Amino acid sequence: MSPILISACLLGHKVRYNGSDAATGHALLAQWQREGRAVVVCPEIAGGLATPRPAAEITAGRGGASVLQGLARVVVADGSDVTPAFVAGAQQALAVARTRGIRVAVLKQGSPSCGSAFTYDGSFSGGRTALPGVTAALLLHNGLKVFSEHQLDEAQAFLQSLDVL
Ligand code: SF4
Repeated sequence: MSPILISACLLGHKVRYNGSDAATGHALLAQWQREGRAVVVCPEIAGGLATPRPAAEITAGRGGASVLQGLARVVVADGSDVTPAFVAGAQQALAVARTRGIRVAVLKQGSPSCGSAFTYDGSFSGGRTALPGVTAALLLHNGLKVFSEHQLDEAQAFLQSLDVL
């Protein structure tokens, strides 16, 4: 049964920047946990950040791939640079994926680490950019399929396609 990497906050862990979780209560998340295939990760905690912590965004709407290339930074509203923690957390998530043979992830949408379809653009004014966060970008670059909490049925279909191989 294929394992799946899942953002801790989606499973009810209170690890978001503001100390909250992002539990959806979706039946598929509970099913994956019952099946023992859920591998829980919070890249920002893994990278050494605390909860709560200041909200962070990727500079200039460049997205996570640019951070990994050294072309953008992750900052908080006062300009403090938290890039090393975000990169370290992404690398740890990838290491877990490799160790466990994980080929699919379900990550929290919009996060500067976990966002896949969009992240916030560094203006701290709610502006978005259609680029993934640091962890999502690293996992995508290494061949994982990344879904958000809004694509759980698609993720399940992909898992089933892996399980019949
Ligand atoms: Fe959730 Fe990812 Fe943010 Fe951790 S880094 S709180 S798992 S969105």
